[in-house]
Amino acid sequence: SNVMNPLKKINEEIFSYAALKQKEIDELKKLEAFRKEFIADVSHELKTPIFAAQGFVHTLLDGAVKDKNVRTRFLKKAAKSLDGLDMLVQDLLTLSQIETGEIKMHYETFDIKRLIEEIFDQFENKADKKNIELILDTTQHEVLVYADWQRINQVLTNLISNAVKYSNDGGKVTVSFQTNKGTITTYIKDTGEGIPPEDVHRIFERFYRVDKSRSREKGGTGLGLAIVKHIMEGHRSKVEVKTTMGKGSVFSFKLPVGEADPLLED
Ligand code: ADP
Repeated sequence: SNVMNPLKKINEEIFSYAALKQKEIDELKKLEAFRKEFIADVSHELKTPIFAAQGFVHTLLDGAVKDKNVRTRFLKKAAKSLDGLDMLVQDLLTLSQIETGEIKMHYETFDIKRLIEEIFDQFENKADKKNIELILDTTQHEVLVYADWQRINQVLTNLISNAVKYSNDGGKVTVSFQTNKGTITTYIKDTGEGIPPEDVHRIFERFYRVDKSRSREKGGTGLGLAIVKHIMEGHRSKVEVKTTMGKGSVFSFKLPVGEADPLLED
């Protein structure tokens, strides 16, 4: 057995090395499949608005341009498709920059309550059109968090935009906070249609939509929640969702409590 032992050992080493290599190959194959799927998805998403704009422009060139009413209507539709294309490319860039770590987080203390007030102002028109009430439910004078202001602005903008988009007319979008052991949880609650249980674990994937045609028609890129997820991961936090069909959804995320500036305290 003294002679056999070293051979056995070598054999074992070869086996474990082969297993390791196989694992690496499997991993690479998975990555490659993922990359292919991603390129196919992106191409498809890009084609949709390009195809639409192309159709309107060509119809105009083919003669529709002579009729003033048709002209304006088709140009408006072409412009809308191109705006959608612009949004999509912007979101894709943001997502890839966050994923490759090109965007460094800049942490600071800021008042998230004031940020939400500013975002509510931006959505006032859209909410008014659907008779949706925007409510900031807090008695606190300010809510200080420690985070990247610009990125959290994007997270809140995406979540509030969705809450308004997927709410029925006459609904309510309510933002509230809960403080707990050095963290602040922000809740964004809507009275929308809710998300089916079989879809809810997939809504943070790129381009995943519960209702493809409805979401597109509402002007979504399908990347909003993927961006939210990545930004929260960048903050070593996560975004959570609780939803009830026909009643609505609550999205939430935790951030560390910010330090009040000692120079400003009196
Ligand atoms: P989109 O641009 O399509 O809104 P998102 O990544 O922001 O893309 O959201 C993905 C999908 O999740 C949406 O298409 C929609 O089906 C669903 N969704 C997101 N937010 C809500 C919400 N507040 N209520 C109901 N469904 C939602």
